[in-house]
Amino acid sequence: MHLHPQPQPIAASDDEILAALADIETPPLLVAVASLTGDLSILRDDLRPSASQSFDPTAGITPEQADTARRIAADALGRHRDAGNPSVTRPDPPTVRALLDFMAGTSIEDDYAELMTEELAIAGADHRAPDWTISDIGDATFRVAIVGAGMSGIAAAYRLGQAGVDTVILEKNADVGGTWLENRYPGCRVDVPNHFYSYSFAQTSEWPQYFSTQAVLLDYFRACADEFGIRGRVRFETEVLEAAWSDSDQRWEVTVRTADGATELILADALVSAVGQLNQPNLPDIPGRERFEGESFHSARWDASVDLAGKRVAIIGTGASAAQFIPAVAEQAAALTVLQRTPPWLLETPNYHDDLSGGARWLLDHVPEFANWDRVWIFWRSHEVLIPMATVDDAWDSTESVGLMNDLVRQMFTEYYRVQFPDPELFEKVLPRYPPFSKRFVRDNGIWARTFSRSNVTLDVGSIAAITPTGVAMADRTVHEVDVIIYGTGFKASNFLTPMTVRGRGGRDLHETWDGEARAYLGLTIPDFPNLFLMYGPNTNIVINGSIIYFSELEARYIVESARMLLKAGVRSMRVRPEIHDEYNRAVDAANTRMAWGAASVNTWYKNASGRVTQNWPFSLLEFWQRTRHPNPDDYILE
Ligand code: NAP
Repeated sequence: MHLHPQPQPIAASDDEILAALADIETPPLLVAVASLTGDLSILRDDLRPSASQSFDPTAGITPEQADTARRIAADALGRHRDAGNPSVTRPDPPTVRALLDFMAGTSIEDDYAELMTEELAIAGADHRAPDWTISDIGDATFRVAIVGAGMSGIAAAYRLGQAGVDTVILEKNADVGGTWLENRYPGCRVDVPNHFYSYSFAQTSEWPQYFSTQAVLLDYFRACADEFGIRGRVRFETEVLEAAWSDSDQRWEVTVRTADGATELILADALVSAVGQLNQPNLPDIPGRERFEGESFHSARWDASVDLAGKRVAIIGTGASAAQFIPAVAEQAAALTVLQRTPPWLLETPNYHDDLSGGARWLLDHVPEFANWDRVWIFWRSHEVLIPMATVDDAWDSTESVGLMNDLVRQMFTEYYRVQFPDPELFEKVLPRYPPFSKRFVRDNGIWARTFSRSNVTLDVGSIAAITPTGVAMADRTVHEVDVIIYGTGFKASNFLTPMTVRGRGGRDLHETWDGEARAYLGLTIPDFPNLFLMYGPNTNIVINGSIIYFSELEARYIVESARMLLKAGVRSMRVRPEIHDEYNRAVDAANTRMAWGAASVNTWYKNASGRVTQNWPFSLLEFWQRTRHPNPDDYILE
């Protein structure tokens, strides 16, 4: 995959150009073409999308307006061709602002405009790059150890590298990619559109689909690691066993196990945990699990050596992972029994498995910046609009929704189930009875219904009593005799940073300090654990909107700016003030109880054993951006 592909010159005829644009959404199309050609006159007022954000897939654009917009865009591209395909100049800030305002259908708030300009990163502009380097400040010996070479670790290594900070990346696996390396189950793909689920600083127009497969995502992260010179800084097959803060030396002492089984001590001035939230498989405590005599494995440890063809297979779980591999297994197994405890909410996504259309491919090949504009279009269309739909109304009295807007979503989603599952018995089994957005939704293009209509697939929604040596015994005494059991049972998400041991000031143990209640300030810093930064830490997961890469990029910026704060102050350490950390966490906890995922009683990996939401960010995407632009020195004890 190429991160900055060169545009191909337009040679197509006028009719061919117009035909290519036939299914392209017009707001990002018009601004991409205006940006390419510099002709802002094509942004006609009568072609603006509606300013209101809503679920309306047309954004208020009528078919007639769309036709006109495509013709105007095609004409402009034809003129660009006739002018000899001049090279693109980066639009100046007022032009970018005008383009963003047109696309949003309104004059957007200044902070949002700045945020979106960063996300857009048009023509290679990198607004989140540090505007300093370590040589400006002096202490070139400052070294950061990053644990994990997945999506977050690569972002941190890139940004720290831009500032000239020495980094070493400690990776337990033999390659980069993290979750995209480990989750190789059939059907694995991203569920946030690629043009948004990618780094702002490494955009590409080469995604083959809107929701690409695991192999494509892994290829992307490998390309980033290679192109940015990160791979050479990674110590592969090097697992962190313990990280301990030395009070006397004011630095981290990191004990690792290397590929040959030896242990080694690595010293670092700051430590970044980029280990993700979903990497410790959860194997359920079902009696008899160890006695099963067939093959069994967890989805994140997929055993490709087990040939499922002709086998009787049971799958436990119907979460986001299982929903992706159940259809694939159904095609191979002789008989598949799906054991569902809680049904997922399906989000209708007709193009979920589709390749980009020929027209979209043509446009991206000839106007690669369309990918950038599509990215901010996706962002704008989904950024905060969904939050009210997941917000609790205290006066609302239902276990199936948390408020009127949430209930309207429930009704809309339910209609999709009615169409997909005409069999009333199956409909009753698959329809969730908990509020939408209290769990992660599952994208669906009709494959869920097609899978359960197969003659070799059985859906059992009873309680599992035990695993026997030859199958799964249910509480109602049904026994499913199977050859293979696949656990799609999720991860021990609340056990942040396990199985590492992390010791802070005075030798205190992080997991004892947390005692099951993982917390951090902005998800990033913890009192008494100086110079430790968590990426994708507590309460930085999102359920309904945004992309987790957005959070990681902002966390990386905060870490780089923290390094600057430390170095400029001429001190060795920073640790968050306990009162700042505690007050922040009280606000997060209170806000999470106001959201569907905090209020609903349904099981989720978002909550820990005590029922507190340890994973999710309950505020707006803008607020995370605003709060992480720079560390506030008043929040920290610097010494
Ligand atoms: P999950 O959402 O936690 O789902 C686990 C499933 O296992 C649930 O259906 C759960 O049922 C079931 N389960 C757990 N213990 C069980 C038991 N003892 N008996 C019966 N059933 C049991 O885990 P996941 O599917 O791996 O997904 C985790 C997260 O990973 C997602 O929410 C998403 O954020 C991310 N993910 C993303 C993608 C993507 O498309 N990019 C793909 C996969 C995963 P209950 O619901 O009743 O607990």
